[in-house]
Amino acid sequence: MNDCIFCRIARGEIPAHKLMEDGLTLSFLDINPVNPGHALVITKNHYAALTDIPPDEMRALAEHLQRLACAVSTATGAEGYNIILNNGVCAGQVVPHAHFHVIPRTSSDGYRLGWRQGKYGQGEAEAICRKIRDNF
Ligand code: AMP
Ligand code: ZN
Repeated sequence: MNDCIFCRIARGEIPAHKLMEDGLTLSFLDINPVNPGHALVITKNHYAALTDIPPDEMRALAEHLQRLACAVSTATGAEGYNIILNNGVCAGQVVPHAHFHVIPRTSSDGYRLGWRQGKYGQGEAEAICRKIRDNF
């Protein structure tokens, strides 16, 4: 038994506002929502990184995520939503159990994701493209 907080929620050891569950996956409300209805979806098995999740559980997670996004946005009357997965501490992952955030959005909610966007220099896009393709 590990003491990961999301594993403990999945095992029913600590309370959560659960939304939906099946054999492999579980969704529940984020305890500190960006907007009301902000929800998380996890695999019941513990995997720290997205890339650790086996294909069958990944498929179940993706299907759950899509249904969750639909239910959250309909229920909250959101105009849109953000789906975010912070993978790794440098990317802002605090709970080391892979999870997607579904954040319902309205044009007046005042929340900004804060992208920083740059430009590729000569040949840079082709070089990174090659490297990525070689790693599939
Ligand atoms: P991340 O930074 O992507 O790891 O996000 C972790 C999220 O988990 C944060 O948005 C927290 O508010 C949320 N969280 C932490 N503990 C709980 C909990 N016990 N129940 C529900 N959400 C939680
Ligand atoms: Zn866990």
